[in-house]
Amino acid sequence: MCFACESEGFNRRSFFRFAGLGVVAATAAATTALPAFAAESAISPDEALKRLQDGNAKFVADADACATNLAKRRQDLAKGQSPWAIVLTCSDSRVTPELIFGGVTLGELFVARNAGNVLDTDVLGTLEYGAEHLHAPLIVVMGHKRCGAVAAACEVVTKGTELEGSIAKMIQPILPIAIAAQHEGGDLVDVTVHENAIHGAKRVVEESPIIAKLVEEGKVKVVPAYYDLDSGAVQFLS
Ligand SMILES: [Zn+2]
Repeated sequence: MCFACESEGFNRRSFFRFAGLGVVAATAAATTALPAFAAESAISPDEALKRLQDGNAKFVADADACATNLAKRRQDLAKGQSPWAIVLTCSDSRVTPELIFGGVTLGELFVARNAGNVLDTDVLGTLEYGAEHLHAPLIVVMGHKRCGAVAAACEVVTKGTELEGSIAKMIQPILPIAIAAQHEGGDLVDVTVHENAIHGAKRVVEESPIIAKLVEEGKVKVVPAYYDLDSGAVQFLS
């Protein structure tokens, strides 16, 4: 259930219940409590982090999908956006930020995804755009349990597996992290996933003077995170 649904006392279960009673149209027409968009995000980095934590707690406790009026929301946002958090995560179909953070709806999260949540030029530019131009106060770099891209990198390191096509090039940044993770003990893929998120968050600040300045000014926070596919819980790593 997303923040908009919650403010309306409305979730998927009630959607189907109301649909059965023939009153869904009136319910869906209710105005969302979320602002259409503002010139810049009005919340602090810590407030944004709290929203994600609360949203994920709701997802874990009651994982209903958002059933708010997307058509109305889309119209409200058509001329501008003001997302309040940026998420870099894996393209894995089970790791959908808008759902796992409590069903946040259109216009709330600015998302960059690729297999293994690898930081490259395209991703860094995307994060800079979200932070500097859209004024989102929080950047989350989130890996996840049993990540296939990280597992592939670990196989290259431990078994000398040769990957074909562009995948081999794509996972190159994960290789040194997997090599270092071998010395930490524990499940290599899981340790590498954690370290990849932590390393990625550090690199965001180290490699982007724009984001580093925003962090220094207290306008932006960069936080690594880990998503547990089994429990649905997101653990923030700093
Ligand atoms: Zn993955």
